[in-house]
Amino acid sequence: MLDFVEKEQHYPSVQEPEARKHNFQEIYSHFGEAAAAEQSARCSQCGIPFCQIHCPLQNNIPDWLRLTAEGRIREAYAASAATNTFPEICGRICPQDRLCEGNCVIEHGFGAVTIGAVERYLTETAFAEGWVQPIHAHRATGHSIGIVGAGPAGLAAADMLRRSGHDVHVYDRYDRSGGLLIYGIPSFKLEKHVVARRHALLEEGGIRFHLNCAVGEDITFAELRARHHAVLIATGVYKPREMEASAAELENVIPALPYLIASNRHGLGDAVPEFERLNARGRHVVVIGAGDTAMDCVRTAVRQQAASVTCLYRRDRANMPGSRREVKNAEEEGVRFEWLAAPLAFAGQRKVEAVTAARMRLLPADGSGRQAVEPAEGEQFTVKADLVIKALGFDAEDLPSLWGQSGLALSRRGTIAVNNATMMTSLPGVFAAGDIVRGASLVVWAIRDGRDAASGMERYLRANAKKAAA
Ligand code: FAD
Ligand code: SF4
Ligand code: SF4
Repeated sequence: MLDFVEKEQHYPSVQEPEARKHNFQEIYSHFGEAAAAEQSARCSQCGIPFCQIHCPLQNNIPDWLRLTAEGRIREAYAASAATNTFPEICGRICPQDRLCEGNCVIEHGFGAVTIGAVERYLTETAFAEGWVQPIHAHRATGHSIGIVGAGPAGLAAADMLRRSGHDVHVYDRYDRSGGLLIYGIPSFKLEKHVVARRHALLEEGGIRFHLNCAVGEDITFAELRARHHAVLIATGVYKPREMEASAAELENVIPALPYLIASNRHGLGDAVPEFERLNARGRHVVVIGAGDTAMDCVRTAVRQQAASVTCLYRRDRANMPGSRREVKNAEEEGVRFEWLAAPLAFAGQRKVEAVTAARMRLLPADGSGRQAVEPAEGEQFTVKADLVIKALGFDAEDLPSLWGQSGLALSRRGTIAVNNATMMTSLPGVFAAGDIVRGASLVVWAIRDGRDAASGMERYLRANAKKAAA
């Protein structure tokens, strides 16, 4: 260990921009055994490991790095899987620059330990060696659990609850499980077979999936509650935020998620009737926003062979919400960023032809440290556009109204309110986890919430069983 002085930081090899612009394969490859051991040995085994503190799952990173450096890969995998339900997914798509690696003590001066790549290596090795096995529940508790939403929060909870011997049913309105892992995040960040592999394991482990089943349409929430001893709501957030500037009735000004879903479905080989309308091929594309979703849109448009791709964001690079690494990747792939630029007007008869944007300027930071913006007087510019993609973030749907559950309390932000210690909502026996509680967030937080909700549900079921026996 402590090899960071002699051994340089290395990430796994990455496809060159010119090559990756023409395919949807993951851009990063895996470490081999020697590289994983060498990079793990750079860790200085901190007494207070900031990497672990800043990992939402509090993964025991120093331990599995040491085991990897010593060649004890099976034990290292076991240590990493003990706290993370989907380590191969987090290793690929966590914004490590803001979480574990961004807080590694050797980041400044030597370059962080490449934690995410080691985590991915361990789990891929475990799959290849047959160490990842379906759940084998040793006892049946007789309790039935209903989970609404097969995204990372719902699946992480399902995994924990099935391990404890409960009868677990997962309901999702889509035809595949994975939530945004399958239909939101493009395959150049996360190939779909990685998600499908987990689905197959969970199904083999006895979790029952009810796909193409929208709660509130195909089954009422009240019916679901009557069917199960406890219910988890893990439906994510899908209501797109709107721009201030109006695009009126112009065609080809579209929200981000249908665009990404069409691209992902097309890549999965599904028939997608709307694909031609939503395909960026040969078009001048303008994406508005600079979060993860916007970065995925610009990079998808590049791969669809758009004529040009421009990203407009009202703040500057330092204040953008998405990962810096993704901006760098997008720039390398030819995306043009217009920082401090907000759309003012959209020109065109029936279809959009151009976007006029105002140049913005940053104001001094407020008490929270956030810098507001205002238009810089008289400074405007126009960008040619025949496809505009709005990627301004998502809010929660009003589930109490949609599901006729007026007793389901909401937070001030319109997400579902939970007791943080138990993850239970205002309705007894109804729990919630993931984006529907936090607002649009990260996969690793959804996994954390799903695992916490599973613990809360366990305690609730045990307490109820005790009461019934008394
Ligand atoms: P979701 O993943 O949204 O899953 C919710 C599931 O509930 C869906 O399958 C949905 O079909 C189902 N559902 C909803 N309503 C119903 C209903 N009424 N009945 C039945 N089923 C229902 N995070 C990262 O960490 N790294 C990234 O690189 C990253 N990139 C992203 C890119 C995009 C384009 C987007 C949109 C998000 C990205 N995120 C990323 C965020 C991350 O995907 C989410 O935070 C995470 O998926 C939330 O998990 P969840 O389980 O709460 O919800
Ligand atoms: Fe880092 Fe994410 Fe893995 Fe935690 S789960 S160690 S934040 S890559
Ligand atoms: Fe190792 Fe960096 Fe974590 Fe310290 S902060 S234990 S050096 S990975």
